[in-house]
Amino acid sequence: MRFDVITLFAELFAPFLELGVTRRAFESGQVEVQFFNPRDFAEGNYRRVDDRPFGGGPGMVMMAEPLAKTLAHIRSLRNDNAPVVLFSPVGKPLNHAAVQHWADSTGAILVCGRYEGLDQRFIDAHVDVQVSLGDFVLSGGEIAAIALLDAVARLQPGVLTDPHSHAFDSFNAELDGLLDCSHYTRPEEWNGQAVPGALMSGNHAQIERWRRDQSLLLTAAKRPDLLVAARAAGKLDARDEVVLAGPKTNLL
Ligand code: SAH
Repeated sequence: MRFDVITLFAELFAPFLELGVTRRAFESGQVEVQFFNPRDFAEGNYRRVDDRPFGGGPGMVMMAEPLAKTLAHIRSLRNDNAPVVLFSPVGKPLNHAAVQHWADSTGAILVCGRYEGLDQRFIDAHVDVQVSLGDFVLSGGEIAAIALLDAVARLQPGVLTDPHSHAFDSFNAELDGLLDCSHYTRPEEWNGQAVPGALMSGNHAQIERWRRDQSLLLTAAKRPDLLVAARAAGKLDARDEVVLAGPKTNLL
């Protein structure tokens, strides 16, 4: 798959593409990422990409024309009808289902805003979907684009050493959509706290039961909405319901 990113600050992406487990996906081209700077498509000596807002007020607005020219250039390089994704606080909040959608896709054209945002006419003419990272305002869309690319790369086959490990991550609706259980590593006792006994039992079935219970109870306590969805999707069995109806004492 290929993601073409329209950004004034491609440098911000480099460390995220070069480090960590996801590096494999980017280096192999499994997830190909190309950058395009609207400044390269802007007119005049100053190559302006922004201007003052009509109607007055603070800040600057990204001009439609350099963005449209950048997009036309990208379209000339890709022989598909890739959707244009704009990162924006007005977009739909990013979640696992959306990440899975992009992970299974052939890619997209990602637009990172800066300043007060983009001239609305570019959005109306070219943007297919708007994506938000949450109900807060970033100074640019790059962090949101990096978040999307990282999460998409993580889901590619062969990126995580254990191919099944993301199946157990939080929010994975193919499994159950619940939160992940808590994790422990050495030493067995730290700061006066022992690792839960079930994990030390060596009994695989007992360990799996403990993890399932933790996942259920944690989700019930922190994200009851996910539990409701899992129940509606038929992902909870009779034993799960007994655990959920019982005392919540085991919850860490
Ligand atoms: N005036 C705008 C904020 C502009 S912030 C408003 O109040 O809605 C500049 C750019 O940062 C935006 O164009 C967008 O690309 C990016 N951005 C800011 N907050 C974001 C968020 N929560 N999710 C995704 N992108 C965001």
